[in-house]
Amino acid sequence: MGITMAQAMHSFMSNSAEMCYFAADLTDGSFDITPCEFSKKLFDTDKNPISQLAVSDKIHPADLALVSAFCKDLLSGEEQSCLDEHYNIDFRINMSENAEPDWRWATMTTLIAKTEDGRHVSHTVCHIRLMNSSELLTKTIVDSFTNDKHPSVFASNVQKLLNDKSGRQLAFMQFDIEKFKLINAKYGEDKGTEILNFITNGLYTVCTDEQVHLRLSADVFMIAFLFNTAADINRLIGLIEERLGRYEDIEYRFVFGVHIVSDKTLPLRKMGDRAAMARQSIKGNALNNVGYYSDNQENKLISRKYIEDRMNYALEHGEFVMFLQPKCNISTGGIIGAEALARWIHPEKGMISPMEFIPVFEQNGFIIKLDEYIWEQACKAIRGWIDSGIEPVPISVNISRVHLTNDSFIDSLDRLVEKYNIPKKFIETEITETTENAGTEEMIKKLKARGYMLLMDDFGSGYSSLNMLKSTPFDVIKIDRDFFSEFMLSDRGKKIISHTISMSKDIGLDLVAEGVETKEQAEFLHSCGCDVAQGFYYSKPVPLSDFDKLHTT
Ligand code: C2E
Ligand code: MG
Ligand code: MG
Repeated sequence: MGITMAQAMHSFMSNSAEMCYFAADLTDGSFDITPCEFSKKLFDTDKNPISQLAVSDKIHPADLALVSAFCKDLLSGEEQSCLDEHYNIDFRINMSENAEPDWRWATMTTLIAKTEDGRHVSHTVCHIRLMNSSELLTKTIVDSFTNDKHPSVFASNVQKLLNDKSGRQLAFMQFDIEKFKLINAKYGEDKGTEILNFITNGLYTVCTDEQVHLRLSADVFMIAFLFNTAADINRLIGLIEERLGRYEDIEYRFVFGVHIVSDKTLPLRKMGDRAAMARQSIKGNALNNVGYYSDNQENKLISRKYIEDRMNYALEHGEFVMFLQPKCNISTGGIIGAEALARWIHPEKGMISPMEFIPVFEQNGFIIKLDEYIWEQACKAIRGWIDSGIEPVPISVNISRVHLTNDSFIDSLDRLVEKYNIPKKFIETEITETTENAGTEEMIKKLKARGYMLLMDDFGSGYSSLNMLKSTPFDVIKIDRDFFSEFMLSDRGKKIISHTISMSKDIGLDLVAEGVETKEQAEFLHSCGCDVAQGFYYSKPVPLSDFDKLHTT
């Protein structure tokens, strides 16, 4: 079949000096080249079969990987979801007959015939010829202006996808090479560049005309495409991995982020950003290299960047405010203390929850500054009460784990207590005891030795364990809100709460239950022997002036 087809082609076409034909019959693996001037010049032979090596030697090293990936795919005869009925690929071939190479741009057009079921490639006919001068000129212009280099072309092509009426969905996908810096370091930057060029060019063979691609930066690529089902997305990812995931003998791993566009009115930049967020979200994940965007991610990421840009300004401009949440005696309902909780009151965004900013500050270290600021506000409040003749109640302040690496925080606390000249018993300290900071026990003991009351925060939250109670320097345990509310749901859970309370009392620890929201919960705790509760049932955290009203009435 192969020979017949090649001969047929040959008889149709003139035996030009600058073109030749291949035919491959993938049903029996035969591969023939039409003997002609050009093929002889190209491959030093007009005999069939020609060796792969002879072909490879003639192709420019920078284009070789692309051509071989393409041929490998073609010859495998596997289902080619993205392969059109005909296909064009450009590469440089060496037309020199001596040692000095003469690289000339050639273009290869491939026609494929599929098996009857349309799933496999059965035959291909390839036609290689040198580009003529006008094609070369066009290529130069196109190269500088194709969608992989030119965002505006990308944008106008995406616009077509947005206007698509076929009912398919639009996705933005970004991918990059994991640990690309290591590849550069190991194989050299030139190799790194070759790999990136290979991928850039390779995207032309992987993507259809409708799959619009753009090289965003060194190793970040983006594709916008229409799809019907998740399988279409996976297929495209599979194809990219298979064809472009290896260059020569260098293997690397891609990380993909996908944003399925639900709001087509979003600016394109935003659609791309969301794909980027999805990609970032799974960086370093050994099991999964494809992340999907979800709204949550954006909220998290936006606030993180925003928070970091604004935190110093916010502290200097009094945007952080201490709120106080009462701790109440369950039997009398009277306020016997308070916890100081940070609030960020933003002039435009309103109140930002500590759940959003505390984890960020714990990571970047800013928590040290914020904590000290809140501690100072607590000391000030106590001083204020004393000065205005109000009976002070102790305020507990949160000590982030970040402080526990260095005992200088105890000096800071001492300085504040001295500065405001208040009895130490009015400043209590809350520390979340976890297995990770078990090694910081020394620090906690020092804090106690300096006269501070210690409260173990979030007891039962999963970070703490009964084991910690064995030789703990803590005075009070605060039963975690989530632990408490979850265990309250079953009789078994209630028993555990009840026993935890009696056990703690037995070993001489006091208890505060956090997150008490209902009368029933308060009554249950009381029946178990817990005397102090903190929670919305009594009061939400409030500004100092409101606390004063609660406290004095
Ligand atoms: P935490 O120290 O365990 O504080 C108790 C949290 O439970 C507070 O959340 C409080 O508003 C909330 N809460 C109290 N009662 C109820 C209730 O009945 N129902 C519900 N649903 N929630 C209740 P908040 O203020 O959002 O603070 C969250 C966490 O952020 C705190 O947990 C604490 O770990 C941290 N945090 C807050 N302010 C500071 C601070 O100034 N420094 C440090 N290091 N951490 C802080
Ligand atoms: Mg606390
Ligand atoms: Mg707590």
